Amino acid sequence: MLYSRKFVLRVVAVILTAAIISLNTQQAQGQAGIAIENPRVTVNFGQSITFEARILSSLPITQASILFRGVNEEVTRVETLQVAEDGSVNFTYDASLNVFPPFSSIVYWFQATLTDNVTYTSDAINFSYNDNRFPWRNTTRVNVTIHWYAGDDAFGAAALDAAGAGMLAMREFIPISLTEPINIYIYSNAPDLQNTLFLGGEDWAGGHASPDLGVALVAIAPGTSQFTEMETKIPHELTHIMMYRALGDKYATQPIWLLEGIAAMVELYPNPEYARALDIASGNDSLLAFEDLCASFPADAGNAFLAYAQSQSFVTYIRDTYGTSGLTRLTNAYSDGFNCELGATNALGTPLSQLDSRWRESVLGQNITGVAARNLSPFILLMALVLVVPLWGAIDILRQRRKRRGKQPQ
Ligand SMILES: [Zn+2]
Repeated sequence: MLYSRKFVLRVVAVILTAAIISLNTQQAQGQAGIAIENPRVTVNFGQSITFEARILSSLPITQASILFRGVNEEVTRVETLQVAEDGSVNFTYDASLNVFPPFSSIVYWFQATLTDNVTYTSDAINFSYNDNRFPWRNTTRVNVTIHWYAGDDAFGAAALDAAGAGMLAMREFIPISLTEPINIYIYSNAPDLQNTLFLGGEDWAGGHASPDLGVALVAIAPGTSQFTEMETKIPHELTHIMMYRALGDKYATQPIWLLEGIAAMVELYPNPEYARALDIASGNDSLLAFEDLCASFPADAGNAFLAYAQSQSFVTYIRDTYGTSGLTRLTNAYSDGFNCELGATNALGTPLSQLDSRWRESVLGQNITGVAARNLSPFILLMALVLVVPLWGAIDILRQRRKRRGKQPQ
């Protein structure tokens, strides 16, 4: 998926370069064209992006614009430029209103209409929209680069180890890519990360992955708990990236409970709070139905946490019951476009709602008859009808007999 996009971009770049070369040839032959001199981009993360350049042209410019978009975006932003006497242009984009994802790649190019009424296009230029508010350091092993700004060298090395351990843990059921780069940014505290996600147009989550960009953001403070946090958060976000790379655009067709459940299952330290949340919700009958966790997770923090806890436990139950091949069949069924309920039927022979009940019974030890009764309620109704009709018939016959007997002379 990413390869093909990169490939397309490369082809586009080649075509554009070819176009520029042919324009230059035309210029040499006395025809018009444009060239870009000293292009410069200044990123003030979350605030503004300033583009500066000088457009050189053989004929006067009547109109000029700058075009830009995230490399994975469909929509291109177009802004008209004021061109100075010497061809200088500059444009400042308000990055606080229309946000780009943090650490995404942005491509831009120029167009100018000259006095020959022809519109010429420059070649495309890429830059990274990085969170440059922090003094990032980095260290790389194979295709994984860790970026951090708090903590010493050992901190970065420990994060690389956690990424490696995560890869080992997930490779049993997710194909691992060791070539395409992965960038993991470690913020030293949750507010810094939260602020970044907000600036990047995303809501707050425990950590964050932009799987299409191969980027993960986590908050881990250097200190005694750093190892546990690394071995929990880094494998989780890495799993999202690897699953995206394995599934491509079918990643978006997977239920959220499945994606989050698999990612949580790869965490090397199961969150002890998950078990407590499950216990409490099971006890007061406030567990969430998995069919409500297909498209999204609850917005409020408490229920979102419960949704993670349930998904982790539920996916682990599915793996323990149906094996990793069962999990693969499940992702395949959802990739094929089966809906949330029927994907489970197709892959595991049991609809999602029934899997949910079985999980409640066998993992949470819920009242089996209670669960079964709810589960079987349509069947109970049917059985009742089947039984009641003949029973009614029998009573009727008895009554008629009694009547007849009453009429008989004693
Ligand atoms: Zn996740």
